Amino acid sequence: MSQFTIAIHGGAGTILKTDMTPDLEIAYQEALQEALNVGYAVLEQGGTAVNAVKASIVVLEDNMLFNAGRGSVFTKKGVQEMDAAIMDGSNLNAGAVAGLRNVRNPIELAMEVMRNSNHVFLSGKGANDFALKQGVKLEPDEYFFSQFRYDQWKAIRDSDNYSLDHTHQQLEELMKDKKFGTVGATACDAQGNIAAATSTGGMTNKKYGRIGDSPMIGAGTYANNQTCAISCTGHGEPFICAVAAHDVSCLMEYKNLSLAEAMNVVVHDKLIKLDGEGGMIGVDAQGNHAMIFNSAGMYRGVKNEQGINEVAIYG
Ligand code: ASP
Repeated sequence: MSQFTIAIHGGAGTILKTDMTPDLEIAYQEALQEALNVGYAVLEQGGTAVNAVKASIVVLEDNMLFNAGRGSVFTKKGVQEMDAAIMDGSNLNAGAVAGLRNVRNPIELAMEVMRNSNHVFLSGKGANDFALKQGVKLEPDEYFFSQFRYDQWKAIRDSDNYSLDHTHQQLEELMKDKKFGTVGATACDAQGNIAAATSTGGMTNKKYGRIGDSPMIGAGTYANNQTCAISCTGHGEPFICAVAAHDVSCLMEYKNLSLAEAMNVVVHDKLIKLDGEGGMIGVDAQGNHAMIFNSAGMYRGVKNEQGINEVAIYG
């Protein structure tokens, strides 16, 4: 039997204690704890890792504080377009969705894609049509609106500049507070099956149907019982080019590194070389976990059968 474990994140970036009010800090901690408790309860009742990660993600998607589902960031056109993915490490099945509008819980649609379509990755209008067909819950635009994300967007929407062909410094000025805010979960159940899930509104002011790493299997999300389950957060483009989540799996499979060793190589070496700011959480099939980031902070938490129950924000 494996020790069951759930690890979650709520995004990485320039998260500094000096920018945080005591109330906001408590709100983040409570939200992370609630998501951990909900996922952990699934595992404790003998549920599967895949159901546990989905349950935790739904809690985070429903919370305004995070850039996923409700509270997602605004695109250049001033709307929300959401991405999500889920992967079951026991059979390597996966479901992913990108560019979704008005779907209350993108992770539920990703699960539907995994279980009830013959496909892995659906996007845009087609994904929304599939949501309608599967009876996945929709919400009007107002449901997704948050003043905080709107103000973030207003500050940069008139610069046409949020793209990667600008220098890092210009980018930094534009994204003064670089908090990415995506949510993710990885879990190991009592049977030793592992799963990963990630959900996001992407990056503020994104355009041209930009999609980040979060819904891309192997980049932002990956799970394989033989190695690890990983969910990433950060500046998506370098994570895509590094095939970050799958690279952790490769380092474990081909180089025999432990979960934490492999994550360290990817986050502190490979991603750094690509200017890839952010982090990742992971579990293996024994229930070991790691939460590693190269940014100032990462909203994160872990709860396991051995009594670990922690949430943290800063480095
Ligand atoms: N990785 C996400 C993206 O690039 C953003 C995030 O993690 O917050 O879309």
